[in-house]
Amino acid sequence: MSTTALPASAIELRAQVREFLAGYAQTWTAFDRAHSWTAFDRDFSRAVGRRGWIGMTWPAPYGAGRTAFDRFVLQEEMLAAGAPVGAHWVADRQSGPLLLKVGTEEQKQRYLPGIASGDISFCIGMSEPNAGSDLAAIEARAERDGDGWRLNGTKLWTTNAQHCQVMIGLFRTTGSAREARQGGLTQFLIELDSPGVEVRPIPDLNGDAHFNEVAFTDVYVPGERLLGTEGQGWAQVTSELALERSGSERFLSAFPLVGAATRALNASPADAFERGDLATLGTLVAETAVLRSLSLMAAGKLERGEDPSYHAVITKDLGAELEQRTAPAVRSLFIDPPADLRRAIDYTVRAAPTFSLRGGAREILRGITARALGVR
Ligand SMILES: Cc1cc2nc3c(=O)[nH]c(=O)nc-3n(C[C@H](O)[C@H](O)[C@H](O)COP(=O)(O)OP(=O)(O)OC[C@H]3O[C@@H](n4cnc5c(N)ncnc54)[C@H](O)[C@@H]3O)c2cc1C
Repeated sequence: MSTTALPASAIELRAQVREFLAGYAQTWTAFDRAHSWTAFDRDFSRAVGRRGWIGMTWPAPYGAGRTAFDRFVLQEEMLAAGAPVGAHWVADRQSGPLLLKVGTEEQKQRYLPGIASGDISFCIGMSEPNAGSDLAAIEARAERDGDGWRLNGTKLWTTNAQHCQVMIGLFRTTGSAREARQGGLTQFLIELDSPGVEVRPIPDLNGDAHFNEVAFTDVYVPGERLLGTEGQGWAQVTSELALERSGSERFLSAFPLVGAATRALNASPADAFERGDLATLGTLVAETAVLRSLSLMAAGKLERGEDPSYHAVITKDLGAELEQRTAPAVRSLFIDPPADLRRAIDYTVRAAPTFSLRGGAREILRGITARALGVR
């Protein structure tokens, strides 16, 4: 992929990241790599943290104040390699930046160093049994209890909650789901070892239990764990979603298959594949390059302190569509794929339906795009 638009610091970093990842080349199978950013590996995240590569854009003393372009390069190299980044992904991408934006000094000091070292993982507590696309229908409640709050309700599809120490959860602090809607919502930092929290893993089509149902029964949260401003949860969540949707994980989730297929074809005799095979791979790479440009524009907006929401929505919508086509396209290249690649393809086929749901369903993203275009 071209690196012409990137600053020198990012190009230097790319070489360092590739060298770092080369150390794992023999360790990760194509099947491992297909798990991409859902794979949770604490030791790997700590190794990334030791390099100073978690929270790298955050200002000192929490981060190195590097550019959004540096972070972009780091992430695309990690994702293209299928590195198991799940233990730090959410906190690096959105929880840490949200803490920096609206957190108190005490909250920053409590969590940011542990995130940056790869020791503390965060999960996102937005969706509920009756609130997915219609997030304003949230019913989980937080009620005042002395200086703190008492939480009751259920969060659903919470990625990696069983491994995370902290959830940023969105709760209703005033009004009802029917009347108050986006009003009266507040975010809390919830330490998941608190009494009354029950995390129940849910297996997906692959049998992997990466997401969870998280039940809250009279969970006490101290007042100083309210994040940002009471009643402003909706605005805070919206700013988080722009970070959640604009990154390269929204079009590179299936890309490790392209790398694995290329390696398998290179290892085959020249007459084992046809020109059309190369065109299939070339098309996937070309489409990836276009989405990469869009995502890079979002990184530029972040760097300038602008809102990347619309770029984010389009990147995620088109990216999920490309990701969902990748496994069948790669499968079509082989009469009988090598066993490891076959497992990786099968895994991705079963994971693919989630690509256009997680982080916001396709129809919802298209509605946002339509609004941006003034046709809705
Ligand atoms: C792998 C995975 C990981 C996830 N991780 C997390 C997490 O960590 N934290 C978290 O909070 N949530 C998480 N989610 C939940 C995710 O945000 C929701 O699945 C998503 O918002 C859709 O909500 P839903 O599942 O309730 O589906 P629904 O909202 O019920 O939607 C079902 C279908 O109906 C369509 N639809 C809904 N409303 C409309 C409409 N108005 N117009 C047209 N079509 C519509 C949708 O596009 C979709 O196709 C995760 C989901 C997945 C699949």
